[in-house]
Amino acid sequence: MTIPAIPRRIDVIRTFKEQGGYVAAVLPIHYPRSLLRAFNILPVEVWGPPGIKARDGAKHLQPYVCSIVHNALSFLQSGGLDITDILIVPHTCDSLQGLGSILLDFVSPKQPVIPIYLPRGKRESDVDFFANELRSIYRQLEAITGHSPTDADLLQSIYREEAADKLLSELHRCRRNLPFSNLAFYRLLRNREHLPAETFMELAQKALAQKVDTTQDGGIPILLSGIVPEPMSLLGAISQMGGVVAADDLACCGRRLYPPGQSDDPFRRIAERILYAPPDPTRGNSIKERLEHLLQLVETSGAKGVIFYEVKFCEPELFDLPQLRQGLQEAGLPSLTIEMDLNDPLSHQALTRLEAFLEMIQ
Ligand code: SF4
Repeated sequence: MTIPAIPRRIDVIRTFKEQGGYVAAVLPIHYPRSLLRAFNILPVEVWGPPGIKARDGAKHLQPYVCSIVHNALSFLQSGGLDITDILIVPHTCDSLQGLGSILLDFVSPKQPVIPIYLPRGKRESDVDFFANELRSIYRQLEAITGHSPTDADLLQSIYREEAADKLLSELHRCRRNLPFSNLAFYRLLRNREHLPAETFMELAQKALAQKVDTTQDGGIPILLSGIVPEPMSLLGAISQMGGVVAADDLACCGRRLYPPGQSDDPFRRIAERILYAPPDPTRGNSIKERLEHLLQLVETSGAKGVIFYEVKFCEPELFDLPQLRQGLQEAGLPSLTIEMDLNDPLSHQALTRLEAFLEMIQ
């Protein structure tokens, strides 16, 4: 059994542009995919990227800003995002908010920069606020592209993303009944970061067609939390040590299992989808909500421990950790924290701690 053939990111971008579309480079974490696609803009996410020379960004950023932001700015300044037409910078955290200001006030890249202000809650007033923010982004995209999609166009785009996210949730749900390694499975999932929804759905359907009735691995089940599993050799290392990622609470994956919206107003519907997604500290969800969510994931997946795989200097994550880990401990669930920098390989120390943790919980 094999993972379906995955198109290369650069080929996807070139093909989309050759067909008359635009491409937006999008910083983490939450943004309105369907709104962009209604303007024929393909969102391509930029989680760093890892393993680049982050020198250029260091001229503008303090050393205690995380490597995702350092790398993104360096990548932009070295021409790595020249193929893109728009930069989208959600105000996910102080570091990304700072990056947005640097881009708007100092660096002035060739692409227009669109910041996104996310509310820190999910009350009715938060949905109102975010729907208005999305209307403002609509007007900016209208000015850039000259297109004015109707409400019907927007809803059609929303329904397509909802269908893709339904398949993404299905992949998460039956991951242990699919014949893929940890690494192959996450390579598949992370295609949602740059493939058009319709292409991702084809891949997901081919993968789900390989589902079997019995659990495919006998590894030690763990729950993986954090921002992004980079370097992705982490996933191979977990397999080699006898572990299996049975569920995740990663910002790039499990925290973006957006539910369908309810409203017939396209802007409200997009807002509902993002604000009602699984809890995320960058959207202001409480530690209590996060703990309940983690315990729920543990219960449904059978995970025996939680690994918090964190980007160094990531304040939203690191602030929650002491209380989250204490809550897990009180529930009888061991946890481990590993911090990484996107530009470093997995350290021997990290591998040793991972191995010791897996031995302890098996
Ligand atoms: S890793 Fe943390 S600090 Fe860095 S961009 Fe992501 S949320 Fe912000």
